[in-house]
Amino acid sequence: MAEGAVAGAAHDPAAAAIGSGLKKRTKEALANDFLRKAVAFTTDKLRSGKLNATDEFGDWEAWRERGRAIRQHTVSHLDYYLGQFADNVAANGGSVYFCEGADDAVRVFMEIARRKQAKLVAKGKSMVSEEIHLNHHLEEDGIEAIETDLGEYILQLAKETPSHLIIPAIHKNKRQIADLFEEDAGRPFEPDTKTLAAYAKQKLRNYFLEADIGLTGCNFGVAESGSITLVSNEGNGRMVSTLPKTHVVVMGMERLVPTFEDLEVVLNLLARSATGQKLTTYTSIVTGPRREGDLDGPEELHVIILDNGRSAQLGDPIFQDVLNCIRCAACLNVCPVYRQVGGHTYGSVYSGPIGAVLTPLLQQDMKEAGTLAYASSLCGACYEACPVKIPLHDMLVQLRHRKVKMKLTALPERVAFKMYQTMFGNVTLYKLATKSAYYLQKPLVRNGFIKAGPPPLSGWTQSRFMPMLPKQSFRDKWAKLQAELAAKKPAASGGADEAKGGGAK
Ligand code: SF4
Repeated sequence: MAEGAVAGAAHDPAAAAIGSGLKKRTKEALANDFLRKAVAFTTDKLRSGKLNATDEFGDWEAWRERGRAIRQHTVSHLDYYLGQFADNVAANGGSVYFCEGADDAVRVFMEIARRKQAKLVAKGKSMVSEEIHLNHHLEEDGIEAIETDLGEYILQLAKETPSHLIIPAIHKNKRQIADLFEEDAGRPFEPDTKTLAAYAKQKLRNYFLEADIGLTGCNFGVAESGSITLVSNEGNGRMVSTLPKTHVVVMGMERLVPTFEDLEVVLNLLARSATGQKLTTYTSIVTGPRREGDLDGPEELHVIILDNGRSAQLGDPIFQDVLNCIRCAACLNVCPVYRQVGGHTYGSVYSGPIGAVLTPLLQQDMKEAGTLAYASSLCGACYEACPVKIPLHDMLVQLRHRKVKMKLTALPERVAFKMYQTMFGNVTLYKLATKSAYYLQKPLVRNGFIKAGPPPLSGWTQSRFMPMLPKQSFRDKWAKLQAELAAKKPAASGGADEAKGGGAK
């Protein structure tokens, strides 16, 4: 596709089983004790790190409010800031491509790769490249793509996808990583962090030097200067954006801030919320390709800006704020659902509460992806943790509402809720139903509880007992109690007058 052009949205084949496979994946994850312990262990560490870092920062609520205001302002004026950013990237000597769908972004990247006769692409961490399944397309074209973020590199060896936004291999322990490295190197490895990191470092160093293209995401684009900000704790982002002759950035269209002053706020919020650090170890700011006299840097800089369902949220009174996300993963770390099942259960690139909202919206698919809205207890912990105050729990309720309105829930569920609505709207029907339920439940009751019900009740009784419905409803008990109290009261008028010393003298 030509520079600056826009084309049609892509169909994502991976979306097919997101909803229909959710129950199966959940069962598998719940049966995997190792996974549950590993995820809970790391998310606990991240949570406590975040609490320390935010306490130390001072008035965290005021910082959250600043962050929310910056992101909301940027997203509300996205057309202006995108234009300013693109103009400045071009003025700095870079090229910008606006792509409507995943297919377009892949096409642009492949055109650059072919033109550069690329054989090897070194990748920094980029969720958007996962979103468009770029590795798969590179492989099809015979181009080797190497993940240089350690977590992503481990997953590439394991042929798996990330299961956390910032700790992609959260579900793996050192022994499993050592096994993967053993297979790769053909020699034994001790499950020791230093040894494993040293092996990865030495392998990746060669890739940085040999790669034809360095591919990165973009944590924040700065509109006023056309700069790309990359944060990492391993320094790979800096290597990938400096050593190869061509640097390609693939970024979501919403990942902008207007100024460097705003960047300071969001970088603080990101590091503290993500890992409990004051700032990430490496913060690289790339402004254009190498200039005359520069000691290093790429000869070409290409910036691919992806829409892929994002612009459909602009102007939406409920969902626009989802574009304010800075991908810190704090909402994953506190989510009682994510902490039990991990990221792969969601079946999509983005997991946890943000993934459950973002995936159906980006894919514009309520039938399959919309089912993720049910992967939540709606406790609101995600909102409390979010540094830019995105009301994810409200959005999840609204997505469920949307799914119901579109008649995309199962027929028995729709019939059941219709009956429920009719029953609760009519006192006589309600009384009749509760009375009948008392007698209908009898074959299932053991010692005052229903311990094993037929479907769909079995979904409830598999993990808890349900107390039997009482013979007398609260409404009946209340009426009886009122009648008893009224009968016990002394006669109203005479008694009251006597007590006041009143009456005719
Ligand atoms: S929704 Fe909020 S907490 Fe979750 S990843 Fe985005 S910014 Fe972080």
